[in-house]
Amino acid sequence: MADKKDYYEVLGVSKNASEADIKKAYRKLAKEHHPDSNPDNAESDHRFNEATEAYEVLGDSDKKAKYDQFGHAAFSNGGGAGSQNYSDMGDIFGDFFGDFFGGGSRRRNPNAPTKGADLRASIQLDFGEAVFGVDKEIQITVSEVCEPCSGSGAKKGTSAETCAVCHGSGQVRFNQQTLFGTVQNVRTCNSCGGSGKTIKEKCTTCYGSGFVKQKKKISVSIPAGIDHGQTIRLKGKAEPGTNGGPRGDILLTIYVKEHKDLERRGVDVFYNMPISFIQAVLGAEIEVPTLDGTVKYEIKAGTQTHTRFRLRGKGVPHLNNNKVRGDQYVTVIIDVPKKLSAAQQEKLKEFAEISSDEMNQPNKKKSFFDKVKDAF
Ligand SMILES: [Zn+2]
Ligand SMILES: [Zn+2]
Repeated sequence: MADKKDYYEVLGVSKNASEADIKKAYRKLAKEHHPDSNPDNAESDHRFNEATEAYEVLGDSDKKAKYDQFGHAAFSNGGGAGSQNYSDMGDIFGDFFGDFFGGGSRRRNPNAPTKGADLRASIQLDFGEAVFGVDKEIQITVSEVCEPCSGSGAKKGTSAETCAVCHGSGQVRFNQQTLFGTVQNVRTCNSCGGSGKTIKEKCTTCYGSGFVKQKKKISVSIPAGIDHGQTIRLKGKAEPGTNGGPRGDILLTIYVKEHKDLERRGVDVFYNMPISFIQAVLGAEIEVPTLDGTVKYEIKAGTQTHTRFRLRGKGVPHLNNNKVRGDQYVTVIIDVPKKLSAAQQEKLKEFAEISSDEMNQPNKKKSFFDKVKDAF
């Protein structure tokens, strides 16, 4: 794992490259090193796989966020990026290579099962909900199979017919004249749009599409440790596929509200704790608010302002192992009183006098001010 190259390096993009830049960089590399144009070239083969693996992660906002936070470790334990199936890549190759590797061979069969479209959604969480995880419900508008026509798109009592032009294949073969002679090529059937079926009388509910948009509530189990800006993939919850293909995924982006006192940085939590100057001088037991309620902490006598201490395990659970938690860092800020009663002032003056008496004792070192006075 240690010698694994940085994914950004592999694609030759900077860490803040846009989604489009990442896609462009991958597209260029993949085109250059594609096995079809580099047969039996081990180096190209390696570069192609490397780039594909990098894009698998950086091209997916969810995985990219994890990679940015944890590096390769995010994918090292099981189901790593390298061993993922590249089901999504079909779409990319369809888009990318259709033009470059032309011919009918790579053209997708319109009757093949195709995964449905992904949908994006977002949800706002309270600070504590993100820290400890929460079950939520989101509402999303998604296509469902039209009930009256059972998805056929044909009016009740009628049914879709096999397209007379393509005889149901969705494709039409045609001859093309090229420099090398006549080549048989394939294109999508215009008559049925590639579905292989024609509908004479359309269903009045779905107007022939076979699907209707519906508002749907979906339960989501948000894992403990999720952070602001991260995305959760809800597999198979988005738009339905065609020809028996799976549904697309919902990409749920998380927004986390700020806490009034606690500041989160990754798995650690930071807190500024005001203490009185008396507590700082004499030492005290203080009660510190944490994610788990207040905990007692012993301030040592003579604590300076901005001293920081750590409460181990009081931070945020790790996203991939919620038994391990970050820490809470507490910075004590000494609160100097602005208003004192006459009695308080009296006591403090007394304190000051005792202190200067100590300074003036012959065996004690002279204070800085005394030295200054002596100089004149
Ligand atoms: Zn047709
Ligand atoms: Zn219908």
